Amino acid sequence: MTTRGGLDLGGTKIQAVVVDDANAVVGEARHPTPTSGGPQDVADAMAAALREAATAAGVETAALGGVGVGSPGAIDTAAGTVGQARNLPDWEGVFPLADALSQLLGTRVALGNDVDVATDAEVVLGAGRGAASLLGVFWGTGVGGGVVLGGRMWRGVGAAGEIGHMVVKQGGARCPCGRRGCMEAYAGRGAMEARARKRHEDGEKTDLFHLMKKHDRPRLTSGIWARALAHEDKLAIELVDDAVEALGTGVASAVNLLDVEVVVLGGGLGLRLGEPYRERIVQAMHPHLFNDDRPPDVRLAELGDLGGAVGAALLVA
Ligand SMILES: [Zn+2]
Repeated sequence: MTTRGGLDLGGTKIQAVVVDDANAVVGEARHPTPTSGGPQDVADAMAAALREAATAAGVETAALGGVGVGSPGAIDTAAGTVGQARNLPDWEGVFPLADALSQLLGTRVALGNDVDVATDAEVVLGAGRGAASLLGVFWGTGVGGGVVLGGRMWRGVGAAGEIGHMVVKQGGARCPCGRRGCMEAYAGRGAMEARARKRHEDGEKTDLFHLMKKHDRPRLTSGIWARALAHEDKLAIELVDDAVEALGTGVASAVNLLDVEVVVLGGGLGLRLGEPYRERIVQAMHPHLFNDDRPPDVRLAELGDLGGAVGAALLVA
């Protein structure tokens, strides 16, 4: 049996898995992403997480048939480097992440874009099995997108799939990217938190920040949003309604262009809010679909939190 490693590098957590020949997870570990230091510290934390997953699987990392990494930022797969990773601490310039990890782990390392590998995992192993064309929508801190056309990942000139920056309102709200009216400005958890904070400071009542403190979270996580909705918190309901409308508009616009068979909805908020919100997004898409008699099949991601890491392991399959 050949086991392989997969690492999903996120802004808040590092998820590591070890998978077997059939891509079944045989070991896993999760570590927080360092909030200070630099790229080498992040690489050290990634190696530690993978060692823990390998120990759980009963293998040495040097015996793995390779390790795949899904990373944010600008990925050069050939050079094994990551640049412009603005969600990671002090990640200035371009860092040779593949080489650094390869030295720490004693095996070959391949890099991919985090959203692409999560989309690939759903296509190969999850909700998108059998679809020749698919749009992956990852609703989390930002809104990431992965595009599969004709059975192949569409990378454009290198930066395809930025569905979060589809414009859903001209001259609209400021997006974390600095532009206006992007879908992510309404639907990204980061933008939603910023808006909630501003309105709370301006005197609006909400339990969101009370729940955040009570559950000892540094930010408004998907779980905090879900709890606030369950408490019928008015501000949370309004902001999530706005997010659903923005997702419906943006995803429908993307479908009008690409006419994909399947849309897979994942990401922290997508997974946490689950089926009722998948259904609401389908309804919010409907008025914007040009071919509204033949909508795409919108499915929830099946691989959950481990999708990114399992997809990364496919890079070395
Ligand atoms: Zn934007």
